[in-house]
Parts: sequence; C-alpha cells; structure tokens
Amino acid sequence: MNEKRKTRAISLLSGGLDSLLAICVLREQGVSVTGLTFTTPFFGSKHAEAAAVQLDCEVMILDITDEHLEMLKRPPHGYGKCMNPCIDCHAMMIEKAGEIAKRDGYDVVATGEVLGERPMSQNRQSLDTVAKDSGCADILLRPLSAKLLEPTRPEIEGLVDRERLLDIQGRSRKPQMELAKKYGIKSYVQPAGGCLLTDPAFSARLKELLDHNPGAVADDVRMLRLGRHFRLKSGAKVVVGRNEKENDALTERVGENGILITSDITPGPVVYLMDSAAGSDVDMAARICASYADNGGNEIDMELSMNGERSRIRSTPVTRDEFVEFRI
Ligand code: SF4
Repeated sequence: MNEKRKTRAISLLSGGLDSLLAICVLREQGVSVTGLTFTTPFFGSKHAEAAAVQLDCEVMILDITDEHLEMLKRPPHGYGKCMNPCIDCHAMMIEKAGEIAKRDGYDVVATGEVLGERPMSQNRQSLDTVAKDSGCADILLRPLSAKLLEPTRPEIEGLVDRERLLDIQGRSRKPQMELAKKYGIKSYVQPAGGCLLTDPAFSARLKELLDHNPGAVADDVRMLRLGRHFRLKSGAKVVVGRNEKENDALTERVGENGILITSDITPGPVVYLMDSAAGSDVDMAARICASYADNGGNEIDMELSMNGERSRIRSTPVTRDEFVEFRI
C-alpha cells in the first residue's frame, strides 16, 4: 500500500510564542516541520534554539549579517519606531526560507505572523508586501491567520488542510495564550524580544553610526554593543569600557590605526579611540579615560598603544560637563 508522503514545512522560529504556535498547528495535522532562525549583530539564535528544544524540533541557523546590514542602511519599507526595518527584515527571512524550501524540497514556508497583531508590520497590506517581496508567496503559509488570508498553493493542492488552520487576528494575545496552554508551551520570549533594533538607546547609536559612516560594516555595528560612546568634534570616536569584560573586549577588538588607552589606576577603564590619530583627539580621549579612572581629579599616567607600539602619557581628567556633549 502506498503511504501518503508527509508534507514538509520550513517555519521561521524566533522563540516568540506565535512562531512556536505556527509549528504546533502544522504538526497537529501531521506536517513535518523544521524551524529556521537567523543571526545578525542585532539578534541571535538563543531563544529559537531553546524553543526548538522545548518543541523537540529540528532547527537550522543562518547567519545573514552582511545582507541584513546592507538592507538596514536603506530599508525599502522604512523603519518602525526605532531602527527596526520589520517589513524588509521579515521579507528577507522568508526569502531565505523560500530558497531553502526550493533547494531542499520543502512544500511549505510557514511563519507565525498574525493578521493585525502589529500595526506596521502585520497589517494586511504589510503581509501582502512581505509575501510579494519574499519571492515565495505561493507557498507562504501563516497558519495562525490562514483562514483570513487567500488560500496558498499547499492548501489548494491539499498538502495542508485549510480547515485545520486558524483565524486569529488583532492585538489581543488571548487566543495565543489559550493555544499555549493546549500545546503545553511554557516558555517563550516576548514579541521582538531580544532584537536590539527595537531598543531606543541602541537605535540612537546605530543611527549616529550610519549617518557618520554609511559604509559601516558588521564589526563597526558589533562595537555599538560595548561601552560608552562619544563622538568628538573632529569626527573621531571614543569608546569607554564599563567593566572588565568590556575592557577585555575592547582590547581584543582594537584595529589597525585604533589607539587603546589604559590607565595605571586599576580597576579603571580601557578607552578605544577610533577614526583618528590627531594629537588633540588622543589628548581628549586620554582625559576622558582619566575622568572615568576617577583619581580624585588628579593627573593619571596612562599607556597608549597603537599598531603594537606603546608610549606613555599623563593626563588630567576633564569634568563630565566638558564632554557630555560628545556622548552618543
Ligand atoms: S523585531 Fe527585529 S528581528 Fe524582528 S522583524 Fe523587526 S527587525 Fe527583524
């Protein structure tokens, strides 16, 4: 007797409740589901991996750092409240899933998107835009809202039973909470949880970086997660480590033409001066370092290192009022 082949779906998995539920809904009707998650400097795969363990589901992890950063510099559909280009980000992720589906023979690309749940990125028009831009609209299924959307190819061809899909819409999370109970889902992250692009303070730093350096690369962006940042009048950037871990990270990252300043006071900050070797910038960076080293306003001896060459400098702290205007 010929056994019917199992329908195979690849489903975006962020670790948020909706993404877990989409997988559960499909599995309930016998679809074999593989999760797909992404990493960039702005979000990682930690929550998705935990969710995959909880669901006992295979998960693929894809690093999309470079493409995502290029899109982020000029997202065709703009940003949300912060620097989050959610429509284009979703479209990119779904496009990737579509490419994998084509390559590996998946029948369905699924997401946990819910019609009307988020005003900007999940209204009907945005869902249509995402589907169109992803290039795989024909096999893109949103199991949680499918009954409110046009039938997709897997539904029309009977690979997925549309009747067993859902019609959730709107911002109330009540139906999702009930489903979480039904499927025994105990932990998940909040929507957009863990995405730095929805963090106002990080977004301000990122915007400043991209305005100042439109050609910024992934390492420049990763640096934004470390320390206190200052932009001097000359355009040079000063990053001050806030603790030992950040000091170590700054020391490791110092690149060609970067200057590392370490005070003789311990514990004290490590300061990284980027984009400048001008004497006045070195002087100001050293004085900022002295200020955070906190030696009661007295002069401090410091070591400068650049391209492996070391030298000594003595600096007087600046008052915080003198450099607060440089803070990013
Ligand atoms: S919240 Fe972050 S990860 Fe999620 S779609 Fe928006 S930009 Fe992408």
